Amino acid sequence: MFELQDAFARKFQYLRLSVTDVCNFKCQYCLPDGYRPDGRKSFLTLDEIRRLARAFAAMGTSKVRITGGEPSLRKDFTQIIETLAATPGIQKVAMTTNGYRMAKHAADWRQAGLTAINVSVDSLDPHMFHQITGQNRFHEVMAGIDAAFVAGFEQVKVNAVLMRGLNDGDLDRFLAWIKDNPIQLRFIELMQTGEMDELFQRHHVRGAVIKAILLQQGWQQKIRAHNDGPAEVFWHADYQGEIGLIMPYAKDFCASCNRLRVSSLGKLHLCLFGDYGVDLRDLLADDHDQGALQQRLREALADKKATHFLHEGHTGMTPHLASIGG
Ligand code: SAM
Repeated sequence: MFELQDAFARKFQYLRLSVTDVCNFKCQYCLPDGYRPDGRKSFLTLDEIRRLARAFAAMGTSKVRITGGEPSLRKDFTQIIETLAATPGIQKVAMTTNGYRMAKHAADWRQAGLTAINVSVDSLDPHMFHQITGQNRFHEVMAGIDAAFVAGFEQVKVNAVLMRGLNDGDLDRFLAWIKDNPIQLRFIELMQTGEMDELFQRHHVRGAVIKAILLQQGWQQKIRAHNDGPAEVFWHADYQGEIGLIMPYAKDFCASCNRLRVSSLGKLHLCLFGDYGVDLRDLLADDHDQGALQQRLREALADKKATHFLHEGHTGMTPHLASIGG
């Protein structure tokens, strides 16, 4: 039975599950000083992930996206995919990655049951890529995308955060790239998180500006299917690829919210920019707690707010997106 519905009739078939906070990139807008290990943190184990997925799936979740931090840094990452893919009711297992391990592992991941990959590529200029991510690994990441196609993924989604004065000049290069490649390029509008006020003020580009350029160049907006999620998708007859715009500051962005998040420490976050997480971990240690776990999810969802308060500069408790799986 489908139970993951809130007071505003939004349905949540989609779970974003962070499996680690650790990341090996130093993206300027996320972890500019790199991940600082905290010995006290222990991330969800494979068994905890299995129980969590079972409870969500029993209530109607059909898609799980594995994220982080960098999820592929987990040694048991392939087993995590297998575990999720083997959960009755879960039909799609996606991941978001910086692509660093993709060239080597895309085929194993596919074999394990991964159905979709989003890879973050903030610039097609190797120097700018290095400047933004702190890692000189552009060519490895691009080889990873090729490997994903060879492994049988029909489409790869690419995330890019366009920033004024950094990579905003890359737009034309990005468009040329997807002319003959079946890539859905997703421009994510820079979001203000707790730790990056100044960077936001300096580099934020409004998604509406990009949208206006696309429309001017003949891109057309696809009609949104019910429960498509918050991306606005554009197509163009001359291009194999498509463009998705994710504009968290746009009016009604939250009306199409279809996702819940669980952090790598087992907290349920009803919104990326919420003030608190609901601890689930005490109910993940034993297979017999499934009923209580589902009850906690039900009660938590009753509390989900209509919208975030980003417009008012309220970034919630999120210091950066790596901490709860952006
Ligand atoms: N390590 C993986 C990766 O690089 O894709 C997954 C985690 S990362 C936090 C997920 C996505 O969040 C990336 O595409 C990244 O660009 C995006 N992101 C992180 N911080 C952001 C911010 N402040 N504004 C917009 N997007 C952000």
